[in-house]
Amino acid sequence: MKIINLLKNEKLSLSFEVFPPKSESGFESVKSATEEIAKLRPSFMSVTYGAGGGTSKYTLDIAKNIKELYGVPTLAHLTCVSSTRETVRRKIEEIKKAGLDNVMALRGDIPPHLETEDRSKWDYKYAIDLIRELKEADENFCIGCACYPEIHPESVNQKEDIKRLCEKVQAGCDFITTQMFFDNNLLYNFLYKIREAGITVPVIPGIMPITNANQVERALKLSGSFMPQRFKSLVDKFGSDSAAMKQAGIAYATDQIIDLYANNITNVHVYSMNKPDVAQKIQSNLSDILGK
Ligand code: FAD
Repeated sequence: MKIINLLKNEKLSLSFEVFPPKSESGFESVKSATEEIAKLRPSFMSVTYGAGGGTSKYTLDIAKNIKELYGVPTLAHLTCVSSTRETVRRKIEEIKKAGLDNVMALRGDIPPHLETEDRSKWDYKYAIDLIRELKEADENFCIGCACYPEIHPESVNQKEDIKRLCEKVQAGCDFITTQMFFDNNLLYNFLYKIREAGITVPVIPGIMPITNANQVERALKLSGSFMPQRFKSLVDKFGSDSAAMKQAGIAYATDQIIDLYANNITNVHVYSMNKPDVAQKIQSNLSDILGK
């Protein structure tokens, strides 16, 4: 099932994200977390891909299981930076063979040891190179790409970042998922600007439930997201009590989703990070709204 066809709903719909294990030994626990999340019947599930090859090995195995064992539409992530054309083409063939229709086309973060390398020799420099490769391999792929309501950290300014996003859409991207954000107004401003720039494809906001204080620093470092005072106060108050922090973080994410839906956004992606209990709690908080 193509994700683009799942985004026409009028009622709120949630999708969840999982990440693959780093090694074989972690496979069963990720598989079982995935199964628990799949039982919630999300609109789709996405499986991340390690840019430096770290966790990329198991992305397809997990994605295939979601589709075949649990019947949930699946989005397999794929990154291209620091990969050779041969590796990427092989991965695309594997995705096709696995019968997966949906690919999240990403550049990936530049691994620190490659930051000073001469990039002119790389087979892939940006996500757009991968989008073109996917389109060439199979016109029918439903392709997603990433966007950054608070600007990608390497961009000189938002205008330039949105221009690059327009190019990804023109190259064949069917829908866009956002980086996490903790202030919905940043998303609304961003949506206004990209619609003005002529981007009409669906945009799925990505919401990260922060469930422990240690996660805060890591999430902010990864995303560069702005932390509103309301969220800071919550971490200050509950950060040292793990159960309370989890409850408060889930409530904050739930509140963000309710506000998005109140503003007519009907598809929200939850960075559920292999935590079925978090996905389940968010879903049950929204049960009447979701009709589940
Ligand atoms: P691009 O779209 O290539 O953009 C990267 C930067 O280059 C931006 O600053 C952009 O403005 C600029 N740019 C783009 N095109 C050009 C051009 N032609 N000329 C000059 N500048 C240009 N990482 C993983 O490793 N695995 C994952 O599974 C993963 N999933 C993600 C899912 C989502 C929804 C998001 C938001 C991010 C995800 N990431 C993942 C992180 C992502 O790989 C990094 O944020 C990465 O730094 C940028 O990837 P991109 O696809 O947005 O890159």
